[in-house]
Order: sequence, then C-alpha cells, then structure tokens
Amino acid sequence: MAEAEFSRVIIKLSGEVLSGNQEYGIDPEFINSVAQEIKEVNETEVEVAIVVGGGNIFRGVAGSAKGMDRGTADYMGMLATVINALALQDALEKLEIETRVQTAIAMREVAEPYIRRRAIRHLEKGRIVIFGAGTGNPFFSTDTTAALRAAEIDADAILMAKNVDGVYDSDPVENPDAVKFKELNYIDVINRGLGVMDSTAVSLCMDNEIPIIVFGLKEMENIKKVVTGKEIGTFVR
Ligand code: UDP
Repeated sequence: MAEAEFSRVIIKLSGEVLSGNQEYGIDPEFINSVAQEIKEVNETEVEVAIVVGGGNIFRGVAGSAKGMDRGTADYMGMLATVINALALQDALEKLEIETRVQTAIAMREVAEPYIRRRAIRHLEKGRIVIFGAGTGNPFFSTDTTAALRAAEIDADAILMAKNVDGVYDSDPVENPDAVKFKELNYIDVINRGLGVMDSTAVSLCMDNEIPIIVFGLKEMENIKKVVTGKEIGTFVR
C-alpha cells in the first residue's frame, strides 16, 4: 500500500452513510463493507478514530420540529449515535480489529466513558476508537464532535465520508450543472453556507487549523485513497 499522508485521522461517518441504501436504520451489509475499508487503513501506520452520526435513526431538530423539547430530542439523537457506534464496533471486531467505543454520556455497561488520554493510548496501541454520544451536549452536532475530538487528540485531518463525492456549488442531485470544488477555505465554506459541516464545526476546524476532506463513500477504497494522499473529493483548509 502507498505511503500514508497522515499519522492520525478522525473519520466522520454520518448516520445517512450507515443506512446504505435504506431510508432508515442500519444496513448491515454496507456497514460490513465500510468496516473492511477501515481495516485496510488500520493495517497501515495510520491511527484511526471514528465519530459516528445518528441521523439514520433520530435527529434532535426533527423531533423539535414536531413539538418535542429540543434538549430532550437532542439527547435522543445522541443515544442514536451510540447504537451506530455499537453496530460499527461489531462489524470491525468481526474482522478482528481491536475496537473501543467511548461515549460522551456515561453508560459504563455498554462502553467506556470518553477519556481523552485513554483514547490516545488506545490509538497508539493500534486500536480503533469510536466516539459515540456526540459531545454529550444538546444543541451541537456530530460534525462539531468530529472537530472537537480532532483538536483534542491532535488528529491531522477530518475525513468526512458522505453520500456525495465532494462539495458542490449547488445540489448535484437537483442541478446536473453543479460544479465540484477541489479546494476551499474555511471562510468560503461558512460565508457561502456550503454543505461541508455546520458552521460551529467549521469554525472550530479553522481556529485549530484542522483540514477537512469531504469525499464519497459509495466508491470502494476511497478512505484508503484519502489517507494515502490521493486527491479525491474536496479539500478544505
Ligand atoms: N447531537 C447532540 N449533540 C452532539 C451531537 C449530536 O445533541 O454533540 C444530537 C442531535 O440531535 C443530532 C443527533 O444527535 O441531530 C444526531 O447527530 P447528527 O445529526 O450530527 O448525525 P448525522 O447527521 O451525522 O447522521
């Protein structure tokens, strides 16, 4: 395998990605193929931590739009991310990859609590660490979690795995003439409201100079390509 570009990365897997071709929930077949890709990266020297979303199960904003208390709905969303984290851990462990789930909301029967130094130690030992339950705070997103954890564990980049293969100037599903950006800077992403991450997450990346690479997960081996410095998707810095 080609030489790695990074030594430690955070991969952000949105809930949408984990649902594969389904409208809702987890697609086990797809999660297994993602796990296989992560295994290939794990076989290199690159240390991998993963932040999982929960949008395939529940989103706080959707709950509050239907009249729920936003804080309560967000806690439900954070619990949804733990379900995804356990599913991904299961798929990785079936491939004999040592994996630890750490949650920002303590649930010690299910997973370790998030402890920064312990997460770093796991990574140094070659284990994959999956961060569940977001930041543990309502009104935030798992994109912000990825930015926060990346800063905390000193990751070299955030790899944003999406259903689309990069960032476009308009929605490529609705506009066949949409143009894909190869590179962007943080301020452009914020000012133009481009769908990379929410603005809180992008600001955190900007302040801590953490590059973001947005790429599509539908094509196989893309995670490996990004880690080895192949120019796919959109690079935000
Ligand atoms: N969430 C939260 N605080 C966090 C992270 C997530 O309240 O720090 C909640 C929020 O309700 C969010 C849900 O968890 O809608 C699922 O996360 P997200 O929408 O970021 O998942 P994704 O879009 O990546 O699937």
